[in-house]
Amino acid sequence: MADLNSIYCPKCRCHTNLIYRAGYERSITGGKYLYHAVEECNNCQQHFLTIRLNGQYGKKILKSYPESLPKTVNSLISDSVKKDFEEALLCQSVGAYRGAAVLARRAVQLTCLDKGAKKGEKLHKQIEELFDNNIITQDIKDWADEVRYIGNDAAHPNKEEVNKEDSEDILELLESLCDVLYVAPARAAKRKQKRKGAAE
Ligand SMILES: [Zn+2]
Repeated sequence: MADLNSIYCPKCRCHTNLIYRAGYERSITGGKYLYHAVEECNNCQQHFLTIRLNGQYGKKILKSYPESLPKTVNSLISDSVKKDFEEALLCQSVGAYRGAAVLARRAVQLTCLDKGAKKGEKLHKQIEELFDNNIITQDIKDWADEVRYIGNDAAHPNKEEVNKEDSEDILELLESLCDVLYVAPARAAKRKQKRKGAAE
């Protein structure tokens, strides 16, 4: 992190800085201390509880509540998918890993519907349908299936627990999937448009 006070704010969804408002220190072993503070997003005034090591401001944030969002969602992604993707990231940032996994799975299902899969089918059928119709490649089908598996584990009480690493992985996969299905084609279309404009 370039700036030790910068954060990707989960409320205003901007890269912003934290401003120190109030705090106190507490000793821990080895002559070190932790600084507990209330800090504020300089864009939307969302408050954060932070813990920093050996210093109140400008020192590394060990923990914050709420946490910084892990990443941004590209604006070129379809609105319905983007909404679930953003909420999945929000879940991830507060440690709600099962919620993140379920929402990532939902985002995959919305992607399938957006790309023409039959409504009312099970998700694995919808993914298969897109593959059979040459809308997605084998790679993307595999990514979508991984998100589906972990999302299923998260949604059903008798399945395996979803941990931080699992949900992180499927958020990465969801991002790759959206890049291939939305972001890259939109960028290519824009380039093409530019090229045509220049030729005329
Ligand atoms: Zn903010």
